[in-house]
Amino acid sequence: MNAIRALRSALTLGVLLALPAAAQAQFPNIGGLIKGAQNVKKLGDSFRKIGEEEEIKIGGDLASVILGTAPLLADPGKQRYVNRLGRWLALHSDRPDLPWKFGVLNTTDVNAFSMPGGYVLITRGMLDRMRSEAELAGVLAHEIAHVARKDHLNALQNGMRDSALGGFTEYVGGGSGGLGAAFKTALINAGKTMFIRGLDKDDEYDADRMGVVIAARSGYSPYGLVGVLQTLSATPDEKGFALMNKTHPLPVDRIDRLDRAMGTRLDAVSPVVEDLPSFGQMRAARATPAAPAQPVRRRPRRKS
Ligand SMILES: [Zn+2]
Repeated sequence: MNAIRALRSALTLGVLLALPAAAQAQFPNIGGLIKGAQNVKKLGDSFRKIGEEEEIKIGGDLASVILGTAPLLADPGKQRYVNRLGRWLALHSDRPDLPWKFGVLNTTDVNAFSMPGGYVLITRGMLDRMRSEAELAGVLAHEIAHVARKDHLNALQNGMRDSALGGFTEYVGGGSGGLGAAFKTALINAGKTMFIRGLDKDDEYDADRMGVVIAARSGYSPYGLVGVLQTLSATPDEKGFALMNKTHPLPVDRIDRLDRAMGTRLDAVSPVVEDLPSFGQMRAARATPAAPAQPVRRRPRRKS
């Protein structure tokens, strides 16, 4: 089974593997950070008035869901580059103080994900499609906009309306009790459904608009995202685009909306960056060979 199919079937079947230890070390779950009395809130009510630390914890657990479907790319250079660009963009969002974390997933599927609290993951397949730093900035800024707008958090809260919310306090308190564990299970299931179905179309259009603003504020060409959408619309049936297409409005519709929203207003933004040498260097560096599509037949283990 190749990486694309593995990701897709893991997402569609909900067969999620345990988070590899190495990935966890690089992208730590911040579960243990939240403690104590400030989290003792009214049950049920509490999930609606979620605090920032609680949001970060939820985001960390959802990041584990995505990382369970595809590991992080073992290429520190690319991870550093995407983190640097992502954090620069996030500084120009409405939530610059979140502990933003960006990562590249080792899959040829073309997609990007964001999670509450500042977690953003982009696939190697998407990174390879980028023709300039402005395009990458456009994609990351769209994801940053989802976090700033709390789109996933709101979708989760809607999706979990009927779930047992009684365990929220235990969950955020980091206890391993039954209620907290039950809440976490419900959260993970709601998260899987959300990643498979996607957000509301209007959330996507709004994130496009806000993303363009974030990219422009950060000095990048506001047309970076449009360039990516043109790439996506040029070959809509490509296998790697399947989940992206399923969870987002059609690229042509997104371009059309952006075009109407932007008009000529952003033409005056100057100076803008289309590209920087760092992008070419990142692309040129082939530090890591692609992971084999299929596990090689295992050699029989030697007895020691
Ligand atoms: Zn989106």
